[in-house]
Amino acid sequence: MSLPSFSVRQERWNRLLLQGCWIVFLLSVALEFLFLQVTEVPPAQFIALYIVRPTAIMGTILLVAEISVRYLSKHHDYILITTATLLTFTVTFVHSSLEYLLFLLFFPILISIFYFQYKKLLYAILITGIAFAALLAMNGEIGERMSTAGSLTMAIILLVYSGIGFGILARGREILTHLRSSYESNQELLVRTILMDKLAKTDALTDTYNHMAYHEYKDHLAAQADNGTLQLHLAIMDIDNFKKVNDTFGHKAGDAVLRKVASIARSKTGSNDFIARYGGEEFVILFTEKSFQEVYDLVEDIRKEIASALHDALDGSNVTVSFGLNAYVPGMGKEELFKLADAALYEAKHSGKNRTVIAKAGQAAAMGR
Ligand code: GH3
Ligand code: MG
Ligand code: MG
Repeated sequence: MSLPSFSVRQERWNRLLLQGCWIVFLLSVALEFLFLQVTEVPPAQFIALYIVRPTAIMGTILLVAEISVRYLSKHHDYILITTATLLTFTVTFVHSSLEYLLFLLFFPILISIFYFQYKKLLYAILITGIAFAALLAMNGEIGERMSTAGSLTMAIILLVYSGIGFGILARGREILTHLRSSYESNQELLVRTILMDKLAKTDALTDTYNHMAYHEYKDHLAAQADNGTLQLHLAIMDIDNFKKVNDTFGHKAGDAVLRKVASIARSKTGSNDFIARYGGEEFVILFTEKSFQEVYDLVEDIRKEIASALHDALDGSNVTVSFGLNAYVPGMGKEELFKLADAALYEAKHSGKNRTVIAKAGQAAAMGR
């Protein structure tokens, strides 16, 4: 697993590095003009040699770099290291009389550290070594002035810089590995928290929400319904004569029936509805964003479908359910919402079962809205 948007950020750094190169370029041009005031070289010659020539070369290098970065989709890091090397090479080559500028040659090594990759550091060391050798070979002035001891010193400094570069990289990678592992464990924790959250809200037997989740959602939905921004209905569903099912076919068969009944109800309810096992063989369904008629039709559909389902665990016989249905009206209160639905369910049980009874108060209010 990798940290997201890491390469995107690298692109942003590349952009910044390239801008840095442009700034170095502009600074060097500005410095030339300062030197123009104090130089003993005739102005025309100075301008041609030390202003026009390096400006043209460095400007071209930077333009090529810009175009390459824009049109090549890969290798931007190498393009930047190479660009920095060519720029420092040009500056040191043109100003061969300024010996201290030789230290600019180590600049690309510092840049390569930005990428935290050994191969890029190695590339920078290699290209810097080549630039240094090319400078000695191509620039007579530097070649003549640089003693063997001087060249050796430069080579040793190159080695020291490289060593420091490797050290920074090793340390940086250590930190990166640490960051990655803590990022990964954070991700795992997040996934586990989500799973735990779902487990804490789900009824294990029927895979519907549990009692606790029902109360949480009901509070939330009732508050919204009070604002008049949400249509809310509550149906309480209870399996008829379930005790007899257990007594006749056993508890295990009863469990299978509970699962099937829940699954039918779940398959009929939509994503705006919320179904929970309230306890035992009793379920609650909160319907949202539906008219009273739509909810009633849906409840009846569930009831009929359950009544016509045959259960293997009951030797092919069926079970029925009774419903108490209530419509929420703003200001009714969540206690009343349940109480009226429960009273309707009670009536359904005492008027023959396998039926849906509508809570009168809730229905009248819903119709009158
Ligand atoms: P009614 O039609 O009036 O609802 O009668 P009933 O028999 O369904 O109601 P009662 O409340 O008398 O019995 C409910 C039964 O549900 C009793 C209990 O053993 C059973 N029950 C509750 N929870 C579970 C469960 O998780 N698994 C099984 N198998 N049975 C359960
Ligand atoms: Mg029952
Ligand atoms: Mg019951």
